[in-house]
Amino acid sequence: MAVRKVTRSAKLFERAQKVMPGGVSSPVRAFKAVGGEPRFMKSGKGAYIKDEDGRTYLDYVMSWGPLIHGHAPKGLLAALGRAAKHGTSFGAPTRLEIELAEAVRELVPSMELVRFTSSGTEAAMSVLRVARAATGRDAVIKFAGCYHGHADGFLVDAGSGAATLGVPTSPGVPKAAAALTLTARYNDLASVESVAELAKDGVAAVLVEPIAGNMGLVPPEPGFLEGLRALCDRSGALLVFDEVISGFRASRGGAQHLLGVRPDLTCLGKIIGGGLPVGAYGGREDLMRRVAPDGPVYQAGTLSGNPLAMTAGLWALSQLSDKLYAKLERLGGLLAEGLSDAAHRAGTDVSINRVGSLLTVFFLDRPVMNYDDAKASDTAAYGRFFQAMLAEGIYLPPSQFEAWFLSGAHATRDVDDTIRAARKAFEAAATT
Ligand code: PMP
Repeated sequence: MAVRKVTRSAKLFERAQKVMPGGVSSPVRAFKAVGGEPRFMKSGKGAYIKDEDGRTYLDYVMSWGPLIHGHAPKGLLAALGRAAKHGTSFGAPTRLEIELAEAVRELVPSMELVRFTSSGTEAAMSVLRVARAATGRDAVIKFAGCYHGHADGFLVDAGSGAATLGVPTSPGVPKAAAALTLTARYNDLASVESVAELAKDGVAAVLVEPIAGNMGLVPPEPGFLEGLRALCDRSGALLVFDEVISGFRASRGGAQHLLGVRPDLTCLGKIIGGGLPVGAYGGREDLMRRVAPDGPVYQAGTLSGNPLAMTAGLWALSQLSDKLYAKLERLGGLLAEGLSDAAHRAGTDVSINRVGSLLTVFFLDRPVMNYDDAKASDTAAYGRFFQAMLAEGIYLPPSQFEAWFLSGAHATRDVDDTIRAARKAFEAAATT
């Protein structure tokens, strides 16, 4: 009889569950959707991570997006070391915040003024407050399968971990808060028009991930974002792009630059913090001047604009180059093609969505254009695929409803290894 070795990760998971709900600080990390125990990570370098048992994995989660330059790049560590010597937090303004705000505005010109927060959740929550204050309206339109953090109004048909756990609206969200959130279908302008009619007093904002990353990756159809822009212009609603994932990833100027649609307000996170906790929101000056202390819309944060986070963000943005995006596009293309071919050889039906360095392999035999399509995927097959890849040392998102992230630290060799592993894993996925 084979004796299964108890791993350090398994022991840590048991211990973690005694002190933390699910043993984790964020739900998807618990591997609920794919089974087995999560791997407790100890270190990362470049495209690789190592767990507490000393097992090494090629990483496609990359901290869910911030690590576009890979794990622990030397330049970043040096910059953080220098910055930490000057102190870790002041609760007073610093030069670093101005420098990062200027860098953001240069890359994303629609962000005429910027406010830093400590997470994407705070950015989305705050941008909505600004939109409501500016329009004097309460209702907001979001899209099923889009995720904008875990503030009350956004936990309605949310993607990401909420999709993984099948939570339509979280308990604890007041009915009154949920009632103000109208949900439309991604890539379906007619659905936006019809839910807008339900808001008798008008819509404050249409919030959208311009490239959706939280129901798995779903790109906007041509004309979708332009249609939202036109609809907002007609109705007086503000168009808000949540670029927490797509910012600085879809292109240097985010999805708005890549796709040529200018929102009124934008949320950022992830890359802008270079792996430290950061979010930001910003947009039209007339709207952002409403934020305290220039205006009455209150929003604040003890660690907002934290000098270490600003340093990491400045370093991350300084390293963005045309060469990096060309590499990410090339690797993304190779990976998508190789995975598609591997699935085909194994006789597995998949549908792969990709934009640059972001992709999702949906276990479905037709294109995925919205949350209904994504939900039709065979999540059990994804779970089997995930486990088989993990056994080969490839760390994928532990849920069908998340994007894979490439970084500049990934190499062609890594992509080749991934495709080789996938040939076996697709076969494993096909066997129930
Ligand atoms: N918006 C989007 C599009 C996201 O992907 C996320 C997190 N994945 C958030 C908001 C929330 O950001 P955070 O987890 O930093 O609160």
